[in-house]
Amino acid sequence: MNRLFISAAMVGACLSLASAAAVESVPTADYFPAAPQAAPTVEPGAPAAVPQKRVAPQKLAAMPKPALSPKLVEPHLRILRSGIAAHQRVALTFDACMGQADERILSVLVSERIPATIFVTARWLKRNPQALSVFLANPDLFELENHGQNHIPAVDRPVSIYGIASAGSPEAVRQEVQGGADAMRAAGIAAPRWFRGSTAKYDLSSIAEIRAMGYRIAGYSLNGDGGSLLGAAVTEKRISSAKDGDVVISHINQPTHAAGEGVARAIVALKAKGTEFVRLQDVEDTGDDRTTE
Ligand SMILES: [Zn+2]
Repeated sequence: MNRLFISAAMVGACLSLASAAAVESVPTADYFPAAPQAAPTVEPGAPAAVPQKRVAPQKLAAMPKPALSPKLVEPHLRILRSGIAAHQRVALTFDACMGQADERILSVLVSERIPATIFVTARWLKRNPQALSVFLANPDLFELENHGQNHIPAVDRPVSIYGIASAGSPEAVRQEVQGGADAMRAAGIAAPRWFRGSTAKYDLSSIAEIRAMGYRIAGYSLNGDGGSLLGAAVTEKRISSAKDGDVVISHINQPTHAAGEGVARAIVALKAKGTEFVRLQDVEDTGDDRTTE
């Protein structure tokens, strides 16, 4: 009886922690330094398994409660619809987290003259001067925005997200944001106005802190490549199905992942359908979780 009670209590605790983290089944952002071929089997954001130990109910009640995980949000962002029947206006956004540049995507954007918004980290800029020169040589196509200094989740309390530690304090969140902006300035990029943190997850207080620094926070409405971990066909289908007003998130830093091939094909398919591509700086938008108002 006691054993059943304890097991049920622990399962309940795990479920409530998992739901508090507001996780979803497919990762949004790319934080895996290696190149995994499939989504992790552990649900992202779920707490690590804790060995079960029998504890008498009265002792359990007397134990101090663990600190609650911060409530994480993954804000949505949409752009103003065109309002024209059978006409789609879509904002393609790409994260350049770390690693390299995906020439499959970059070359299509340039050759097809597709405007896009690219979120870069200081780490990525340091390793990819050639791709940066392509961005800077095409100012009519590329809006460059801030993805942080070291690709650390912009959450101001300690928490593990998809296995990586958050910034953990307001000061560390500000450093992640400012460090990204400083690197952009040093690289000759115009001052960023949008910020998107690693993992695209925040807590409400970190959103307020980042906005106090003068940024709007870039959510998304369509997860195009599942953190660059989806297959080419699935990625192509997802992005090709973008609707009027969608903000698509995908990655431009994983040239060895199949997803990038799907991204490149979808861009061509959307253009063939007559899609109007816009950058975030060019259009009105609405975001939730107090990210843009
Ligand atoms: Zn990223």
